Amino acid sequence: MIQHMKDYYDFADRLKIDLVVSFDLGGKYTKKDNENTNRKLNGFLGSIDADKINNRLLEETVKYLADKHSYYPYVLAAVHGATRADYDACMDHILELEKKYSYSFWGFALGGIASYRQADPSWYQDINFRQIGKRGFVETVTPARACRTVRAKAGARPIHALGCGGYPNIAMNYFCGATSFDTASPVRRVGDGSAESTKLVYDARPHDKVAFSKYFVGGINADGTLRAEPCSYVKLNEVADTMPLCGCPACAAAGSIKNIKDLYAKKESDGEANYFSRQLMGLHAVWQHRRLCEILPQFSDLNDFCDAYPSNLNKGLKQLYKQL
Ligand SMILES: [Zn+2]
Repeated sequence: MIQHMKDYYDFADRLKIDLVVSFDLGGKYTKKDNENTNRKLNGFLGSIDADKINNRLLEETVKYLADKHSYYPYVLAAVHGATRADYDACMDHILELEKKYSYSFWGFALGGIASYRQADPSWYQDINFRQIGKRGFVETVTPARACRTVRAKAGARPIHALGCGGYPNIAMNYFCGATSFDTASPVRRVGDGSAESTKLVYDARPHDKVAFSKYFVGGINADGTLRAEPCSYVKLNEVADTMPLCGCPACAAAGSIKNIKDLYAKKESDGEANYFSRQLMGLHAVWQHRRLCEILPQFSDLNDFCDAYPSNLNKGLKQLYKQL
């Protein structure tokens, strides 16, 4: 594994890649093709002491890179830990390694916190969700607390929250000290649509067993005003034809939800039209995430932002933020 690690760093250097996350064991968040019931695979995954291996990889990384004075990429140290205390200890471990080998990472990448279902409940079990409900909020707590824990010791260095850039997380991440994050959900939600769904897109009734592409509703309009709908991904058939679009370039090209549905419905006769409808939905969702990232730095704290954009999401985040 150490050789793979060295190959990885050398590869990034040869290609002059700007930024790399230190070599680590990534979490396995999705299980496909009966992997859930694969006893051999799950037995193996369960037998791994990930924190132990990751700490060793951090040390080997520092040893390897400390001598490479002309190493091109910026390197983010991957921080891990099952609990908040483990996370804090990992951060201490990284800072000690830096001292010991006279090496300095460019920044930090927070790992293992993207899925609250896989996080230890101690990250969020002391939070009172009674007023706001857990749904849509519980997943923001682990990344926010991990950002705070690392920011307390990172000085002014960049912090990337790996996989934690879903819409509800963005404001919390930002105000808890993250400088960047990523997410696949806008593209994933659009990719959910099955061929069957394209025949049912004009039927607004809920079809629980049919996978539709989902449209991101809620968020903030291009003119900076708050949108009326609660923020979530909604199956395209359930989005009202009359819902005004947000004014982003993709929505401007689409013209209306009805036009998007018309393109989506053409799957059999014109696959490109269906593909285009999904691209429009995906680009709109990405643009909404980006818009929020542009707006947040205009505010000095989360409360001011939430007061200026009092959606249900933001009112809930304000309640949560007090308890972090
Ligand atoms: Zn839009």
